[in-house]
Amino acid sequence: RVLSSSNQSREEESVDRALRPKKLSDYVGQHDMRQQLEISIAAARKRREPLDHVLIFGPPGLGKTTIAKIIANEMGVNIIETSGPVLEKKADLAALLTKLEPNDVLFIDEIHRLNPIIEEFLYPVMEDYQADIIIGEGPSAASIKLDIAPFTLIGATTKAGSLTSPLHDRFGIVHRLQYYNVADLTSIVERSAAVLGLNLETAGAREIACRSRGTPRIANRLLRRVRDYADVKNNGVINREVAAYSLEMLKIDDCGFDDLDRRYLRTIIERFNGGPVGVDTLAAILGEDRDTIEDVLEPYMMQEGYIQRTPRGRMATRESYDYFDMEMPDNE
Ligand code: ADP
Repeated sequence: RVLSSSNQSREEESVDRALRPKKLSDYVGQHDMRQQLEISIAAARKRREPLDHVLIFGPPGLGKTTIAKIIANEMGVNIIETSGPVLEKKADLAALLTKLEPNDVLFIDEIHRLNPIIEEFLYPVMEDYQADIIIGEGPSAASIKLDIAPFTLIGATTKAGSLTSPLHDRFGIVHRLQYYNVADLTSIVERSAAVLGLNLETAGAREIACRSRGTPRIANRLLRRVRDYADVKNNGVINREVAAYSLEMLKIDDCGFDDLDRRYLRTIIERFNGGPVGVDTLAAILGEDRDTIEDVLEPYMMQEGYIQRTPRGRMATRESYDYFDMEMPDNE
C-alpha cells in the first residue's frame, strides 16, 4: 500500500522525523488552531504555568504528533510520548507521570484506546495532579495519593466520537485538524524538498500536492517516491511531468486514489448496486482491517463527497459513479 497504510518502515520514520517542523511558525495550515495555540502558549509561559490539556482530533498523517512536539518545544519543556494501547496497567502510566517535571508535556497518541481503568485513573491526575495508587495486596493494601508535577496532557485521536465525555470534558483546548488544501500541501512538499536538498520545481510540488489526499504524511511519502524516479530518469530534477508520470506508475490518480480506494468504490457500486453496505462486509471483501477502512480510507472520501455514511451502511454518491464514468441507477 502506498497511501493508506499507517504502518511505517524505520527508514520512513527517520525521514519523517527530519521533515517534522519544530516551530509553530513552520507548521503549515490549520490557521485557527495555530493562532489560538500561539496565544495560549504565550499566556501559559507568562504565568509560568502548564498549558491547559489539549485534545487533537484528526485522521492519520495530518500532524497530531507534530503539533504536540511543537507545543512542548514552544513551551520550552520536555515531552514524554506514549499511546493508549501501550498503557496496560496503572503502573505503566504512573511510571511516566512521576518522570514529569513542572509544565512538561505527556503525549498520549490513540487516546481513545485507553483501557477504562487507566482512563479513570487519569481523571484526578488531569484535574488535581494527584494519582491514587494502591500499595500492597489483600487486607494490608493501602491507597496513597501521589503528587504529580503540574503538566499538560496532549491526547491525539483519529476517532472523534469514541472518547467518553468525562475524558473529553477534562481537556481545556480541543482542536480538530482539517485536511490540507493544495496550496498548503504544495508548501509542505517544497519545504520537505528543501530539507532533503532536492531539485523540485513548483509545478512538480503542486502535482504531488494534488494527489496527496489532503494529508502531509502522504505528500512527503509521494515526494520520496517521485524522487527515486527523478534520480533515475531525470537527473534528479522533479518537474510536473516527472511527478505526474511517476505517480501514474504507482497507480495514484489525480484524485489521489490508489488501487484499494478504487476497489473499495467498485465494490460498493458493482457488488452492492451503490449500497448501503456495512463496513465489516467491505473490510472482509477487500481483505483489509476495518480500522484502516474507517480511519484512513473513508474520512477523505466522505469529505470529498464520494461516499455517504448512513445508519444502514456506506453508499456511493454520484461523484463515485462519475469517477468511473458510470451511470448512477435511479432506484436509490
Ligand atoms: P499524525 O500524528 O496526525 O499521524 P504526524 O504529526 O506524524 O501525523 O505528521 C506526519 C508527517 O507530516 C510529519 O512527519 C510532518 O513532516 C508532516 N506534517 C504534518 N503536519 C504538518 C504541517 N502542518 N506542516 C508541515 N508538515 C507537516
